Amino acid sequence: MSRFLSDRFAALDAYVPGEQPVDMQYIKLNTNESPYPPAPGVIAALCENETQKLNLYPNPDGTRLLDKLADFYGVNRENVIIGNGSDELLAFAFLAYCDKTRGVVFPDITYGFYPVYAGLYGVAYEQIPLKDDFTIDPAEYFNAGKTVVIANPNAPTGAALPLRDIEAIVKNNRGCIVLIDEAYVDFGAASAIPLTHEYDNLVVTHTYSKSRSMAGARLAFAIGQAPIIEDLNKMKYSFNPYNVNRMTQLAGEAALEEDAYYQEMRSKIADTRTFTEGRLKEIGFSMTESSANFVFARYPGIGGYDLYYALKEKGILVRHFDKPRISDYLRITIGTKEQMEALIAAIEGII
Ligand SMILES: *Cc1c(COP(=O)(O)O)cnc(C)c1O
Repeated sequence: MSRFLSDRFAALDAYVPGEQPVDMQYIKLNTNESPYPPAPGVIAALCENETQKLNLYPNPDGTRLLDKLADFYGVNRENVIIGNGSDELLAFAFLAYCDKTRGVVFPDITYGFYPVYAGLYGVAYEQIPLKDDFTIDPAEYFNAGKTVVIANPNAPTGAALPLRDIEAIVKNNRGCIVLIDEAYVDFGAASAIPLTHEYDNLVVTHTYSKSRSMAGARLAFAIGQAPIIEDLNKMKYSFNPYNVNRMTQLAGEAALEEDAYYQEMRSKIADTRTFTEGRLKEIGFSMTESSANFVFARYPGIGGYDLYYALKEKGILVRHFDKPRISDYLRITIGTKEQMEALIAAIEGII
């Protein structure tokens, strides 16, 4: 850190993304990307025509994409905002809905970016411990008196909360915003988007990064009642109005026309997850029940870091978190069947 950095960031711990090696020699099972390419229509949409227009700014609202998303999810244009990945929309939401007097609450084991936003903005946060089986007890979030942030399915556990539990949390926090981060919802959990019709304190974020094979394009959206979307737009237009570039907007529109393709990829991933879970259990792993495109597993007798490191030496990247309660676990992204077979073979070689 230089001697010029503002004192308010002296103690800030920035988010550490999973490794993104430049050489691509690895089987990459560490950042929950899709192993499959975007749909053919998405690639076709990124044709010369759009690159020829890169001299022009994009539409800042992404109006055409907003309309298509609104159609797809059964809401109106004023209920949707797009962002440069859900990380950016989460940053807008923390900025809009948390401050010195209104803190934020989330589980102790969840997406590692939440405490970073709180630190960035100087917001007090409370972490509610997951139960011993790494699930959430919804009642512990009732009347929180703070902004509530929950990833559903949760990361890195993959555990999904049923919609009735989400609704109970929303209902019992009518004076505060409840943000549901649905980065993995397409892999097998119920979305809270339909509840946004009824509740004015609920906002739901989705990303194209995982289930729509577009992590490299940086596209996400949030859905909520119009006043919430106005708040988030106020943040966006005070920070970076042209946050989603032309090509990404176009790709995002095209992806919505390709739902059959993405459903097929998701069902392949679900099958491969079942296969991987079965094989890992045979070897002696235990794991949480995942509704996402990853498993969260541990092997008795080998520490999480040691197994992570041994796999890396064999050319396979998985994610290890050096954190209390979960340091024995590995989060393993579901890749192709062939990649998972290579993973299993490597693990068998190690243990
Ligand atoms: C991957 C992930 C995100 C961020 O996704 P981007 O849209 O790529 O920024 C947000 N929340 C959770 C829980 C995630 O796992």
